Amino acid sequence: MSEFDLIANYFTRPVRRSPLGVGDDCALLAPAPGMQLAVSSDMLLEGRHFLSTVEPARLGHKALAVNLSDLAACGAKPLAFTLALALPSAEPAWLEGFSRGLFALADAHGCELVGGDTTRGPLNICVTVFGEVPAGAALLRSGARAGDDVWVSGTLGDARLALDVFRGRLALPQALFALARARMETPAPRVALGLALRGIATSAIDVSDGLVGDLGHVLKASGVGARIDADAVAGRVALAAHPAFAESALTVPALRTCALAGGDDYELAFTAPPSLRPQVLQAGALAGTAVTRIGTVEAQPGTRLVDAAGAALDLALASFDHFG
Ligand code: ADP
Ligand code: MG
Repeated sequence: MSEFDLIANYFTRPVRRSPLGVGDDCALLAPAPGMQLAVSSDMLLEGRHFLSTVEPARLGHKALAVNLSDLAACGAKPLAFTLALALPSAEPAWLEGFSRGLFALADAHGCELVGGDTTRGPLNICVTVFGEVPAGAALLRSGARAGDDVWVSGTLGDARLALDVFRGRLALPQALFALARARMETPAPRVALGLALRGIATSAIDVSDGLVGDLGHVLKASGVGARIDADAVAGRVALAAHPAFAESALTVPALRTCALAGGDDYELAFTAPPSLRPQVLQAGALAGTAVTRIGTVEAQPGTRLVDAAGAALDLALASFDHFG
């Protein structure tokens, strides 16, 4: 299969919203009048961002999902994406699965593939997404203000628990592992929530490297700090609510650490004024995504962790040193 057959067979589909898709030197995009383009790239490398054991369809899903998650964090509506792919060889079964997973998520978000690049090499997948947002309405990292609530969407820490199973550091009952693995391999980008939070959230970020670290980027960009209830965060681990949880050896400290520092969650962490709590809850309901209040923005820089009773906890909980 030549490079051009590969592109034609697996990555060329008619475009509907873009004036020009795959096949020319450039694609053409037409954002609506008054809209700004939101653009983001994320690269996935085998071994570093995914394991060789992942099903190709799930990899196709994840390659786009992590990029859509960045649009979600800006409150941008997905328009189009490009795909730069390095492949060791052109395997039809792999290409069929990968493109199926990729296009299923793309279709679910009305986001079309408009171009890319294809070359032989160690497996490497780079997606660039383009979204649109009304001028001035993008959710930024720099808008958090002292007194705002800190919120997080969905569940946290589950992807990290799956990774620990793959690494042989943790054993989980089958049902819990399946749940954690799905969170790791097929994250759901919170695009609808990001859109619903426009005009409500003062800042937002997507949680890809762990809640405390990513929230730290928001706090720094905003020139503020925060107090975070580690137990409220630990309460958001999906596995903890599963009936099989009691059979697992997971402890409260392990849940806290995974939820605070796990990574690969692709949830939104955001801030909003307390006066808009009903609107935040309504945005979550509208988007079909749970939203949980986990803390408060404070003027003093830095992150302070407390437990449910308000007692201070060591920030080292939010790093993975314990796991060795
Ligand atoms: P050029 O040499 O001008 O960069 P290429 O020969 O690399 O163009 O690609 C031909 C066309 O196929 C271009 O429109 C490009 O955007 C598209 N394309 C290449 N690889 C991919 C891919 N993996 N997915 C989608 N489109 C692709
Ligand atoms: Mg090229």
